[in-house]
This record gives sequence, structure tokens and C-alpha cells, in this order.
Amino acid sequence: MIGSGPAGVGAAEAFRKRRADIPVRILTADNDEPYQRPPLSKEFLRGETDDVSLHPSSWFSDRDLDVTTGAPVAGIDVQAHTVTAAGRRYEYAHLILATGASPTPLPVPGGELALQLRSLQDAGRLRAAAQRAESAVVIGAGFIGCEAAASLAMKGLSVTMVAPEKLPQEKRLGAAAGQKLVALIEEAGARFSGGVGVEEIRADAVVLDNGVTVTADLIVAATGVQPNSAQAQAAGVPTERSRIVVDAGMATGLPDVYAAGDVALAFNTTAGRPIVIEHWQDAADQGAVAGARAAGADARWSGVPGFWTSIGDATVKYHAWGDGYDDSRLIEHRDGFTVWYESGGATVAVLTCNADDDYDLGENLIQAGKPAPVPVR
Ligand SMILES: Cc1cc2nc3c(=O)[nH]c(=O)nc-3n(C[C@H](O)[C@H](O)[C@H](O)COP(=O)(O)OP(=O)(O)OC[C@H]3O[C@@H](n4cnc5c(N)ncnc54)[C@H](O)[C@@H]3O)c2cc1C
Repeated sequence: MIGSGPAGVGAAEAFRKRRADIPVRILTADNDEPYQRPPLSKEFLRGETDDVSLHPSSWFSDRDLDVTTGAPVAGIDVQAHTVTAAGRRYEYAHLILATGASPTPLPVPGGELALQLRSLQDAGRLRAAAQRAESAVVIGAGFIGCEAAASLAMKGLSVTMVAPEKLPQEKRLGAAAGQKLVALIEEAGARFSGGVGVEEIRADAVVLDNGVTVTADLIVAATGVQPNSAQAQAAGVPTERSRIVVDAGMATGLPDVYAAGDVALAFNTTAGRPIVIEHWQDAADQGAVAGARAAGADARWSGVPGFWTSIGDATVKYHAWGDGYDDSRLIEHRDGFTVWYESGGATVAVLTCNADDDYDLGENLIQAGKPAPVPVR
């Protein structure tokens, strides 16, 4: 496996369950043992926990899974069945590409000055900087930006979040959901400033395209990620929009090469089309399919993608195919909300806050391609 995120580790575990006889090695660019990313923008950033390990070291040794950290794979030879990492050549019988994605610096002057948040090292750097800071600007209103802004505000920093969209994730989730996200960010103590672009980043300020310059001790860019597919592409593995194209069994079409997780564009049998996901559990599920397939078992990716996010004290849950919708409708609850999304009369997504029954119902309706339980048009 290349990569020690949920896809790589999930693949290793699934493979080992079926094949006790073949050595399993996880090569990872990370310098840390496998860890969980979701807490990095939440409990870890707020200083509520230091332990984000995915499993204790004994979990890997008990399963005879070899994890080689600090070993970025620099080359893959699909003919020779070898990969090169940290100056060594490794042979493989089965290769699973689970290299995830990396943040790209904002393409503006000074873009590299903003801190990023993907790895445990990034999070450590950000947390240390936050301890010395009184103010922060978070650029980008995706879920990681919202979580980081809320966490920094909860630590007592004066936080301004800026984004080109008028409301957070307006394009992806709609205006009604975007307003709810603003309310959650503000409840956590951060300010949201939408409809503005960043022109320049300075050591202590963000220059916006509306003429305003926001000064801050700490600047974080949470402006999206780029799949880590360069080595696979160079090796001739088929890609589309920089993602490795795989079937529902996570096979790339090249002999013995599979891919899973954020780096993959995988076919989902229930959706009947390829789906891009950037969620923890789905990466683990895809990894499990890839590992099972590599071990010779039958497995397909069929689940409805889903994830949870915590913005301050609120938890927002989302099930979705993630490739758009025709109509949506927000339903208010006493202490939360549900947004239903339909395409062609079928439920394609549900976003909930304090409405777990709707979250579960939504998964079933999306799976079955049935309409939402309320009129959506
Ligand atoms: C701060 C943060 C918070 C998040 N919160 C949530 C959440 O609440 N809920 C949720 O569902 N999702 C969340 N996500 C998204 C989730 O973490 C990802 O979708 C998931 O980690 C993807 O798993 P993956 O295994 O595909 O890739 P990754 O977890 O990115 O792992 C990729 C691995 O590949 C390694 N690698 C890359 N290139 C190479 C190379 N050339 N050679 C060797 N190794 C390489 C990397 O070092 C890494 O170990 C969050 C992400 C972040 C960053």
C-alpha cells in the first residue's frame, strides 16, 4: 500500500484478513505512525487531545503489517512490479495506491505564507502558532475551514473567515444551508465575510479584493486539495481530472494495481456512476474493497457516501453522491435542521443538524433512489 491514511490502512487490514501468507507493507510519506485526520481541525487544534493515533503500534504488529514512515514513493514501474521510495526498491505482487490529496498554496502573491492543514505536522504547527496568536484569518469556507475557524475562535482568538462565495458552500449545499453554516460559525465566536477574494497574503495581513486589509497574527488557507496522483500518472495509470480512475472493485485496469480514497475516482454500483469522495469513512470503505480484491475476494463499492463535521459544539451530518442536485428544501427543527436535496425526483443528498433520524432515513432514500419525505420543489 502507498499511503497510511484510512484507505491504505483499510486496504492492508482487509488484505491481511484474507491472506496470512503474503508480507504486507505500507509505505508512507508521513513521518508519523498512522493517525486520524478528523480531530486535527477539532479537538487536537483546540488542545483537548494529543492522541490522534489511528491504532496502537501493537495493532499493526499483531497483524504483521509493516509500516515504513518517511518513505515517499518517487517512482512506480508497473511492468517490473516495483516501487522506489527513500532510495530503496520494493517489489510487489499487488499494489494499492492510497496517496490521498494535498493542499495547494493559494495562487496569489505571498500564498505560501498561509499555514495549511492536512497532516499531523501541519496541525502541530498551526496549534503552536495559535497559542501565540490573538487573531486569525481563515481563508476558505469548506468544512475544514469552518471547523478550523470555529476551533480557533473557541480557543479565544479573534477569527475572521473569508471566502469568495457569499455564503459557505453555497454552490455545493445551497443558500439556506449556507446561512445555517454562518450561524454555526458565529455561534462558535468567529466572523464570516463572504463574497470576497484574496489578492495578497502578507506575513501579518490578508489583502482582499474589496479594498479591505485584514490584519492577523495567524493566517490559515483551507482552500481545497489536489489529489496526489503524479507518480501514478507518470507510471501510466489512467487518471481523469488528476484522480486515478477505478472500477467498483477499485481496479485501475493495469495488472495488480488498485487505488482507493481521496486520490481515486471510483465507480459506485448504487449510484451507477463514478463518484469523487473526500470523506474518512468512505476512504476506509474503498480501501477495504481494494484490499479484498487484491486478495482475490469479491467486493464492490456500493455504499452511500457520508460524513460528520463538528463546527464548534454543533455536529452536521451529510449523506450525498456529491455531484449536484436540482432542488433543495430546508426544514427547521426545534434545535436543528434538515436539508433535503433531489435530482429527477430522487433524493441525492441530506444535510442534518440534530436530526439523526433524517440522516439515517436520507441514506436509505438515496440508496433506493426514492423521493424525499417532504415536497422539495
Ligand atoms: C483537518 C482535516 C479534517 C477532516 N475532517 C473530516 C471529518 O470530520 N469527516 C470526514 O469524513 N472527513 C474528514 N476529513 C477528510 C478525510 O480525512 C480524508 O477524506 C481522508 O483522510 C482520505 O483518506 P485517504 O486514505 O484517501 O488519504 P489521506 O488520509 O490523505 O492519506 C494519504 C496518505 O498517503 C501518503 N502519501 C501521499 N503521497 C505519497 C507518496 N508519494 N508516497 C508515499 N506516501 C504518500 C500521505 O503521507 C498519507 O499517509 C478531514 C481532513 C482533514 C485534513
